[in-house]
Amino acid sequence: MMMNQNNNIGCTVTECKHHAQNSNYCTLNKIEVTKHTNQANCAECTDCSSFECKC
Ligand code: SF4
Repeated sequence: MMMNQNNNIGCTVTECKHHAQNSNYCTLNKIEVTKHTNQANCAECTDCSSFECKC
């Protein structure tokens, strides 16, 4: 199934079932970005919680 990429959401996580695969974009209309520390002070403290494994 060919999914349309969302040009507003760039993403390199090809392991995600929502990734466009043929280009580095997400296919969702909207994603949720969350933090996994109490106080986010670096990019690594944030995550895409809309991620779903292709596996
Ligand atoms: S849901 Fe998140 S991790 Fe998955 S492709 Fe979209 S932006 Fe990337």
